[in-house]
Amino acid sequence: MKFGHRLSVRAATAILVVSVLAATGFIVATTRASANRHQTASREATRAINNSGHYEDALGSVYDEWITVIAYFLQKDPAFLDRFAASRNRADTALTALRDDAVLHDPADAPRLDALIQMHSQFSGGDQEVIAAISSGDLASAINIATNSGLIDRSEQLLADLGGRITDQRAALRTAQDDQQAAEASTLRWSLGIGAMSALMMLAIGLAAFEWIGRPLRRASAVTRAIAAGDLTAQVERSGPAELANLATDVNSMAAALIHRSEELNAYLAKNLEARTADLERANGELAREVDVRKRAEETLARALEVEHELEEHLRHQAFHDPLTDLANRVRFMDRLEHGLQHASRRAAGLAVLFIDLDDFKSVNDSLGHPAGDQLLIAVAARLQSCLRPGDTAARLGGDEFAILLEELGDTDHAISVATRMIDVLRVPMELSGTEVFVRGSIGIAISTAVSTADELLRRADVAMYSAKSDGKGQFAIYRASMETSMLGHLQLAGELQRAVERGELVVHYQPSVVLSSQKIAGVEALVRWQHPTRGLLLPGEFIHIAEETGLIVTIGRWVLRESCFQARSWQTEYPSDPPLTIAVNVSARQIHQPGLVEVVAEALRDSGLPPNSLILEITESLVMQNAELAIERLHELKALGVRLAIDDFGTGYSSLSYLRRFPVDILKIDKSFVDGVGEHGKERELAQSIIELGQTLNLEIVAEGVERADQLGWLKSRNCDLAQGFLFAQAISADSIRALLSETAGGAMPVEEQSA
Ligand code: C2E
Ligand code: MG
Ligand code: MG
Repeated sequence: MKFGHRLSVRAATAILVVSVLAATGFIVATTRASANRHQTASREATRAINNSGHYEDALGSVYDEWITVIAYFLQKDPAFLDRFAASRNRADTALTALRDDAVLHDPADAPRLDALIQMHSQFSGGDQEVIAAISSGDLASAINIATNSGLIDRSEQLLADLGGRITDQRAALRTAQDDQQAAEASTLRWSLGIGAMSALMMLAIGLAAFEWIGRPLRRASAVTRAIAAGDLTAQVERSGPAELANLATDVNSMAAALIHRSEELNAYLAKNLEARTADLERANGELAREVDVRKRAEETLARALEVEHELEEHLRHQAFHDPLTDLANRVRFMDRLEHGLQHASRRAAGLAVLFIDLDDFKSVNDSLGHPAGDQLLIAVAARLQSCLRPGDTAARLGGDEFAILLEELGDTDHAISVATRMIDVLRVPMELSGTEVFVRGSIGIAISTAVSTADELLRRADVAMYSAKSDGKGQFAIYRASMETSMLGHLQLAGELQRAVERGELVVHYQPSVVLSSQKIAGVEALVRWQHPTRGLLLPGEFIHIAEETGLIVTIGRWVLRESCFQARSWQTEYPSDPPLTIAVNVSARQIHQPGLVEVVAEALRDSGLPPNSLILEITESLVMQNAELAIERLHELKALGVRLAIDDFGTGYSSLSYLRRFPVDILKIDKSFVDGVGEHGKERELAQSIIELGQTLNLEIVAEGVERADQLGWLKSRNCDLAQGFLFAQAISADSIRALLSETAGGAMPVEEQSA
């Protein structure tokens, strides 16, 4: 910042301070001189008063001396002798005091006072001679001394002298008093003058400063207002103190910069506008040409949107609810739990999570069949719900696992009483397929703490449930840290899985998918199994989640993919068909988010020699939604290899149809939960129909999953669904069994296993 030759506010303040100090010095000096003069005058006046007192005393005493001598002469009373002595002493004292004062203050006068004292002493001496003559009775001699010794002359001179001095003193007193008055008057004049002057000066300085600083500020603010209003040509004049003058320069250069910028911007906008106009004109032309084309596209889109709008709401409900029991599903439960925790931390109110697992549910399922199992789960859901208050949440997490969220928890006792009630209501026997069934549940309770997270709280409830179950079923347990050790079983399985991969205990089973129009095998889906040394053949539901948690899924997935590609290639060579047999492989979330997936797929295709379009990668919808942008990118990379992509379990995931449009998918697999209901009239059937129509609008191949009954098959055929997969045709079977099946059918139709109504 450059300072010109202007006075800065700082310099002006310094000058002002120096001036005020100088003026103060002058006032102090003047006042002191005046005070000194006043002091001297009053000292002089005091002295004059004192001295004239002494002179009057001396004069009176000398008279007295003379009078007492005359009185003694006339009356001979010796009392007059005492009075004479006193008067004489008084006169002496007064004269000595005067002489002392003269020595101090007026040395030139001292000899004259000495002469006066001398004169008085001679006069007193003469008087004493007269007194002595009177005392001896010699009155003639007394008269003679008095008249002829010059006593009378001396006394007259003494008295005249003293009288003259008194007059002098009075004159001195008057002079001193005059001086004093003059000094007082002068002090008063000075004070009034200086006071008035200062007030005027301050006023003048204040006004000057106000104008000096205020005017440029007012101008600058007017100009900045003008600039803000868009007048960029407004300029601030340089005036006032240096700082403000520089502010003016800065404001002016800012305005100049703004002008420059706005010119640039205008130029850019103008250029852009030109380009945009040209683009638009071109686009208009193209649009006009393509308007037949567009009409058809619009019709298709309108139909797609219509279907979507019927659908989306149902799918959203579906996305957050368990289709079997209509309780909240895991996604919704976790969402409620997270909200509940936030709310609880604000209100310092606790909440509890109850994890419920039915005891021996599998045996009910196995002995009475799946439909009975489903009925049981529906009844259990209703019973659990009956134990809750309106604000609490009940969810089915999957299989026979339920979770309860108790909010606004007063104390742990409330959670205990809910758990106790649940155990009691579950115990009441229920009728299933004409059989009385006894159900029991084990419940784990976890109470929130200040630092709880949703995942951790649910995990703790799960740990507590395991503990309750291992302590004997049909009980509840509240989470304790020590229970964690009992989760070692889970860890043990994780460790075993690691070894299982190394020891080759994993096997792939394959489930055929069938073309509905011809009932021929189109391809197979690879489904992994674990041949556990002691527990038998384990299904993915029992170990895939552990593989996901530990990251082993990446290794397992790669192995399944390679195994499947080699297997499919050998079947294609052995049993050629047109189109060639396809192989569908499930890909998990962990794999999609792993950077090497594309290379792994490319390598498997290359090494096995399988044509890329024979490979279908199945991805679940919710999986893709965890990180949609990354997933879309990855899916495009996979598509680029020439493989086909399928959305698995469609309808159970997040179901944002706008995303679905952006996924480069070829196939939609309708989840079993929709297919289950298509035999009867109802909501499921409508939804399944909407999904089929949506897929057809988007040109996707539709595969119905979990087809178990002939009536489902009939309905799906009538709706032109492309393919189906399910126990009605075949379960997932070993590679050898597939080979047998392929040779059996040899390009012919699949036999349908079960022919129910
Ligand atoms: P998914 O991909 O939806 O596979 C279909 C599941 O439904 C299979 O269960 C299959 O056996 C079963 N299923 C097929 N038809 C019917 C039917 O008519 N009725 C009934 N009740 N079930 C039927 P599975 O083999 O237990 O697999 C379960 C899930 O595990 C699979 O669901 C898939 O998501 C996952 N999975 C299986 N293998 C792999 C794998 O190699 N990698 C990955 N990441 N996941 C896998
Ligand atoms: Mg699948
Ligand atoms: Mg599926």
